[in-house]
Amino acid sequence: MRALYPGSFDPLTNGHMDLIERALSLFGEVIVAVLRNPNKRPTFSIEQRITQIHASTRHLSGIEIINFEGLTVNCAKTHRADLILRGLRAMSDFEYELQIAHTNSSLEDSLETVFMTTSARHSFLSSSVVKEVARFGGAIEHMVPSEVAFDLNRLFNSAFLPT
Ligand code: ADP
Repeated sequence: MRALYPGSFDPLTNGHMDLIERALSLFGEVIVAVLRNPNKRPTFSIEQRITQIHASTRHLSGIEIINFEGLTVNCAKTHRADLILRGLRAMSDFEYELQIAHTNSSLEDSLETVFMTTSARHSFLSSSVVKEVARFGGAIEHMVPSEVAFDLNRLFNSAFLPT
């Protein structure tokens, strides 16, 4: 089965990675769909985010990385996905995710949204928390893949890196 995993991934965290790896063993194929959202100013460009995901998932097979704009259901149809995958960390994610899932099924009722819970050790992780820690010089190496940690450190702590 082909699962479409849409999101901002700004940037990819170990929580996203955990979900991708577990979904691959369940569904066989995962399309990571990076949203190009004209209403948001991302920290990393779409190209940077895609490069980070490629580099961090080199060891995995069954994965495809794409970018998309517009409706997730259209993206799922274009890429022949069987389901939409989303992650749940806490109750606070639930209300928003439920609304999106209902909206999507009202647009395309044959398309299921499947939720996976994060493993407990990653449940506190979000892209924004990681960026906050990096901004103030905290250690992020246990929160994100090494390629992402390098980019974050370069962005926020460039003064500490060799030129
Ligand atoms: P969006 O802006 O669409 O929420 P994100 O990149 O923040 O994009 O998240 C994409 C998906 O990954 C969402 O379903 C989110 O709940 C899930 N996710 C984010 N962080 C984690 C994590 N630590 N563990 C599991 N799922 C996560």
